[in-house]
Amino acid sequence: MRESQRKKLIMAGLGKAQKKSNRRKYKCIHPNCNLDSIKSHSQQKKGQLSSIAEDSSVYAMRKNMYQLFNAEIKDLLSKQTIGEASRYKGYCNAHDTNIFSPIENGNLDIDNPEHNFLLLLRAVSYEYASKRGMYDQKKDILSQVGHLFSYEGKKNYEASSYGIKVFLEKDAPYYLSLLFDIYESEDWSKIKYNSFQIEKNIGVSSTTCFSPLREDHPSWMAENFEKPQPFISFSVVPDASKTSVAFVWFAEIADLCGEYSRIDINQEDISNVINTYIFCESEDVCVKPSLWEKISIPDKNMIYRHMGESDSLSSANRVPLVLDW
Ligand SMILES: [Zn+2]
Repeated sequence: MRESQRKKLIMAGLGKAQKKSNRRKYKCIHPNCNLDSIKSHSQQKKGQLSSIAEDSSVYAMRKNMYQLFNAEIKDLLSKQTIGEASRYKGYCNAHDTNIFSPIENGNLDIDNPEHNFLLLLRAVSYEYASKRGMYDQKKDILSQVGHLFSYEGKKNYEASSYGIKVFLEKDAPYYLSLLFDIYESEDWSKIKYNSFQIEKNIGVSSTTCFSPLREDHPSWMAENFEKPQPFISFSVVPDASKTSVAFVWFAEIADLCGEYSRIDINQEDISNVINTYIFCESEDVCVKPSLWEKISIPDKNMIYRHMGESDSLSSANRVPLVLDW
């Protein structure tokens, strides 16, 4: 088969797989709920997203498989309406509204333990919902176009699906049950956080989870393979005149999170540190259009290289500063 022909078939198959996953329904994440989830926002549309939007748009990660496979599209961030950005199939309408209302509509108080817990719950819910969607989508893609992949390509693709499967079957049930126990008991001592407020809108919004071990994560997991994977949640929530930044983790992994409890809003390199965490660790970053459009192409390409890589903080200065800070 000619290469151009192969590519055409792959793109057609990806289009079909994308449509199938758009239509797929998922149950509400709440453990006692049997309703279907709605498309909700991991970053509130009327709050944090509209505070950085211009013409109701932001730059956000591309989620469309068809676009991600298309070699002609190199940019990982694309301009999207705030209705499309940061969407996930997580909770039914009632649970989505009731659970998160204390931290929405400008009510987030970064010193309140319950609010920090809700930021953690929302970040984990988003991670879980995107991974369960991704897992099914990968299966659809393999069945549509797997026969067109090279042997190596297919092997790598199956290996990444396996990692997601382990997360969905082992890590996610463990952490979701822990989270809903805390939610019911209101025992906030089971979480720890280091959260602070910046006195301006920094033009970037994000909700994500990442390993506190960063580049040491694989070697730690090799020695602790029976344990659930440790992670920390990281939320950046701008509003009209300020930005809340929250690192939240479970008390049971506090010994792995010393680096995050020491971050201090008054340290000299704080804007670079936060910028690095946002662009190296977040899979769900949204940026104010005028802020992103003024970044040079070489700097954008450097940022894209960092996205999804776990760099140590010593490289903080190598990530071009995007934040308006
Ligand atoms: Zn529900």
